Amino acid sequence: MKKTKHAVETKNLSISWGEVNVLNKLNFELNDGEKLAIVGPSGSGKSTILKILAGLLLPTRGELRIFGKKQTYLRLDQDNPPDVRLVFQNPALLGSLTIEENVGFLLKRNKNLTKEYIHEIVCECLAEVGLFNVENKLPNELSGGMQKRVSFARALITDETLHTNTKPLLLFDEPTAGLDPIASSRIEDLINKTNNKANGSSIVVSHVLSTIERTSDKVLMLYGGKFRWAGSIDEFKDSNDPYVFQFRNGKIDGPIQAKDV
Ligand code: ADP
Ligand code: MG
Repeated sequence: MKKTKHAVETKNLSISWGEVNVLNKLNFELNDGEKLAIVGPSGSGKSTILKILAGLLLPTRGELRIFGKKQTYLRLDQDNPPDVRLVFQNPALLGSLTIEENVGFLLKRNKNLTKEYIHEIVCECLAEVGLFNVENKLPNELSGGMQKRVSFARALITDETLHTNTKPLLLFDEPTAGLDPIASSRIEDLINKTNNKANGSSIVVSHVLSTIERTSDKVLMLYGGKFRWAGSIDEFKDSNDPYVFQFRNGKIDGPIQAKDV
């Protein structure tokens, strides 16, 4: 395996559905430990990038390396998959499983771990996100906000016996979409806490300026299948680049044109 300091490296990464090139020859690198925000209007392909990184979709063309290892199969078809954890936009918990079963799902597959050990790790992860005594409940017995916390706890869980040398790559899809500013701040704190605890790299997809600014070191702007702008979070805050300026200020006039609204 090639030694690398890159958590992610892409070469001409592309995906098309029919005639539409949703992602068109994207090149980017994420260094180990870096925190990236991917921004862009709805339908620009942000969730698609996360699904490719999580191994839920294969690109049509181009190359993807995660922790230096070339990715050619979907994650379920890999023998020794990289440690990539996707927090979906909705909590995506399994409704018929308890909270403990949802969070401990991955550990359960490892037959060397006892029930008591899994219970202990699950409760530690739930406590990290501020949840106590919920492990025997079903998802629909919790509020939406609590379910969201459970989905963060699930991203925190680590099977120490499998991933001894690697740090995880955490992916967050629109974690604060539709939340009020205070709830958003809480989730942003939770992202930072999850990142610190997991001690890995992260990619946050978001429209929300506070989320972008509070959780990331650098920003990539996606539009029309291409990255139009890349820079640090400070550059993003006061760049006059027409794409960034329009996005940041919610202007209708500019290079970003609405497709479906
Ligand atoms: P974003 O997350 O930026 O809003 P998405 O990644 O969800 O955008 O989608 C990007 C584009 O790809 C959209 O135009 C969407 O309609 C299209 N798309 C996404 N998934 C599929 C699919 N499975 N089949 C066909 N088109 C898709
Ligand atoms: Mg999306």
